[in-house]
Amino acid sequence: MSADIIDGKAFAAEVRTRVAEHVRRLTDEHGIVPGLAVVLVGEDPASQVYVRSKNKQTVEAGMNSYEHKLPADTSETDLLALIRQLNEDPAVHGILVQLPLPDHMNSDIVINAISPAKDVDGFHISNVGLLGTGQKSMVPCTPLGCLMLLRDRLGSLSGLNAVVLGRSNIVGKPMAQLLLGDSCTVTIAHSRTKDVQAVCRGADILVAAVGRPQMVTKDWVKPGATVIDVGINRIDAGEGKTRLVGDCDFDSCAEVAGAITPVPGGVGPMTIACLLANTVTACCRANGLAEPDDLTA
Ligand code: NAP
Repeated sequence: MSADIIDGKAFAAEVRTRVAEHVRRLTDEHGIVPGLAVVLVGEDPASQVYVRSKNKQTVEAGMNSYEHKLPADTSETDLLALIRQLNEDPAVHGILVQLPLPDHMNSDIVINAISPAKDVDGFHISNVGLLGTGQKSMVPCTPLGCLMLLRDRLGSLSGLNAVVLGRSNIVGKPMAQLLLGDSCTVTIAHSRTKDVQAVCRGADILVAAVGRPQMVTKDWVKPGATVIDVGINRIDAGEGKTRLVGDCDFDSCAEVAGAITPVPGGVGPMTIACLLANTVTACCRANGLAEPDDLTA
């Protein structure tokens, strides 16, 4: 292995420390405690784990956490009523509705009912439009975390060839917008891309977000490239056990990459850290205070 390992776990801890410092300042100097409301509908086990973790880290950062657990058969009307109530609650600065929602709900309608100023996931169409036009927005947490790791590793990203593998609304597309905002030359590759391997091999920065376990191997990676692996896939590890792997075959890619994020311990921890960062940013904006410049894009 020759690649440096990008330690997302350690970097996320640093971001959380910065968040906690800003929270202390808001509380001490202005008497404001940022508040994050997390809404979970149903009992999806993975979502329950995420929500627990978000709640714990929110409280550890000195913020208020408001958890709303609704049964799986909650009507969309009732969920929208709760979102309206949270939109109007001055103690709530960020609202996150945990996805996926049950099948009987339209997640576009639900997400777009959140006040854009409190949309700490950055999925509301207003925030998508603001990001796409280079205006101040709420930036989706996972791509924001990837951008922070890349800036920390590379300094300026200007002029670098970046390939984003995957075009989802929550990762691929906003990631591409952020890289474009940092003056990369950006290619978005997806399942219909011709010779996707060759496209990826041209990348100085390769962000893999495909949800295909260990699909990217060393033949896809330009020597010295920086590889950000967003994938979280659970695979069979034999003897009835499972393990988490990314969209990149770590050992193989690490032979040629200059730097690479591991899974777990890479992008994953950055996502919640950026959720906390977005809540502080939203809180500052809501109160007409200068927002920290080390917490957003
Ligand atoms: P998604 O909505 O399923 O999108 C996957 C994308 O990959 C699609 O654009 C798809 O192309 C593309 N794709 C699939 N197979 C491909 C192939 N063989 N070649 C090229 N492109 C291919 O997934 P997502 O929500 O973006 O998530 C991606 C991964 O990131 C998942 O493993 C997920 O668990 C993980 N994730 C991690 C975090 C975190 O906190 N670390 C957060 C979110 C997601 P088409 O559009 O053409 O179908």
